[in-house]
Order: sequence, then structure tokens, then C-alpha cells
Amino acid sequence: MRGLTFLALGICVTALLAALVTIVVNATFASAFAPFAPTAADGLIPEGAIVTLADEDVPAISGLDPALRDAMRQAETDAAAAGLSFEVTSGWRSAEYQQWLLDDAIDLYASEEIARQFVATPDRSSHVTGDAVDVVPIDTQFWLIEHGARYGICQTYANERWHFELATEPGGVCPEMKMDAAA
Ligand SMILES: [Zn+2]
Repeated sequence: MRGLTFLALGICVTALLAALVTIVVNATFASAFAPFAPTAADGLIPEGAIVTLADEDVPAISGLDPALRDAMRQAETDAAAAGLSFEVTSGWRSAEYQQWLLDDAIDLYASEEIARQFVATPDRSSHVTGDAVDVVPIDTQFWLIEHGARYGICQTYANERWHFELATEPGGVCPEMKMDAAA
């Protein structure tokens, strides 16, 4: 009887030690592999940084489809005559950065369904393929909404006034906007 009690105690202590080792090992791995944080190499443009379409050494710009970049630069030149400037808040993004943005939005809205109306999945995002550019300020957004089709540039999502893609021939007609990124 006493032998059995010691055996049971021994098993309990071993199990406890194993659990402790698991916790320590997991904590060590967690600190060795910090969670993903986007950098400029992923296409991140830090808040407050001023990036334009001329900044071809910035990955967010160099990763853009050259046809989109050329069309935007043509529009930028013509808009300058109206006293407007183009600042890029987002251009090309890595798939990891796009997933990070989506995860962040899911946290924010506590709903994947709502988050996806604002942030596309990496396999659907036109930022990941280099086919979309977000610009400020608001006057420039309104100018592009009015005149962008001359250059083939269109607002493509009704809920994103800042987001433009090549979506028609120069001088063509922009297709009907999608309601949001999930549509
Ligand atoms: Zn966008």
C-alpha cells in the first residue's frame, strides 16, 4: 500500500515538472520569435512620413505596377497646376503586412466580417499586387475622383475615397465601384 502511494506521488511530481518545463520552453520561444511587425521593407509608410510617387527607393512606391505609377505621376503633374500635391499613405504591401493589417482590424472591430469590409485578405488585396495606391490630402482625392479617368485611374471602393487603381483606359469610363473590400 505504502509503495503504491509513493508511486502515485512520483507520477504527480513528474507531471508537474513536465508542465513547468513546457511553460518555460514556450516562454523562451515566444521571446525568441517576436510577433511580426511591418517595416519599410514590407511597404510600411510610417504615420507622419511624407512619401510621394517620386520616392522610388521606398518599397511602397517601387513595388507599384509601373503603369499605375506612371499614370499617377501624369495626374500629379496636371493636378499641380491646380495647386494640388499627391502624398502617398500606402502603396505596395507585402502579404505579411496585409495579414497584419487584417488581424489588427479584426481586433479593433472584434469581428472578422466587419474588418474585411475595410481590409482585404492578402490574396484579394490590390495593394499586395502593387495595383493600388492610397493618397492624401482630401482635395487631391476629390480631384482624382473627378479627373482620374483621363489617366485610367479610378476610385474602386465606395467606402475608400483615398484608394485608387488603374481600372479603365485613359479617357475611359470608370467601372461601378464595389461597395467595400469584402464585396
Ligand atoms: Zn487602399
